[in-house]
Amino acid sequence: MDLSRRDFIRVSAGAGGAALGGLAGLGADLAPTLAAAAELRIKDAKTYPSICPYCSVGCATLVHTVDGKIANIEGDARSPHNEGTLCPKGAAIYQLHVNPNRPTKVLHRASGAAEWEVWDLERAMARVAELVKKSRDETFIEQLESGARVNMTPAIFSLGGATLDNEWNHIQQKLMRGLGIVAIENQARI
Ligand code: SF4
Repeated sequence: MDLSRRDFIRVSAGAGGAALGGLAGLGADLAPTLAAAAELRIKDAKTYPSICPYCSVGCATLVHTVDGKIANIEGDARSPHNEGTLCPKGAAIYQLHVNPNRPTKVLHRASGAAEWEVWDLERAMARVAELVKKSRDETFIEQLESGARVNMTPAIFSLGGATLDNEWNHIQQKLMRGLGIVAIENQARI
C-alpha cells in the first residue's frame, strides 16, 4: 500500500481522534486521570519560583525539584503578566538543564575542513583571545577624520545568548566596551 506523508498524518490524526472520541463516548472523564498524572510528576517536589531566561518578557516559572534534581518547570499562574502560560521556547526550558543532545565539549571546525575536532577549553580560549587581539589591532580607530576621538573597532560584534544572566552580561559589557567594541547585542533584549 502506498501511503504519502500527508495520508499518514491524516490517518494518524484520525486514529488518535477516534481513540479519544471512543473514551469520551464511553463516558470516561479524563480530567481526574490527567490531574493525577500531573500531580504524580511533581509529587513530593520542592517548588522554587524563577523566571524564564529566554527573552525580555521574563515570564514567571515554577521549578520543581525531587531529590535535588529538576523534575519539571512550568509557568507560574500567580504571575500577572504570563498567568501560568509559557511560549513554546519557554515551555522547553527544562531542556536547558536536562538534555542529552547538548554539546558538552568545545568543537572546532577549521576553515575548509569537513569534520569537527574536539578542543580543550584552554586551547579554545587562547585561540579566541588571539583572534580578538588580531582583529582589534588591525582595525582599531582612535580618531575620526573630524578629529573626534572614538577609540573603537567596528570589526567585532558581541552577541549574547538569552541564557546569560545579569552578572555575566555586566562583565561582558565591561569587557567589550573596554576593548572598544561598540556592536553589542543580546538575544534576550530583542
Ligand atoms: S521566551 Fe517565551 S516563556 Fe520565556 S520569557 Fe519570553 S515569552 Fe516568556
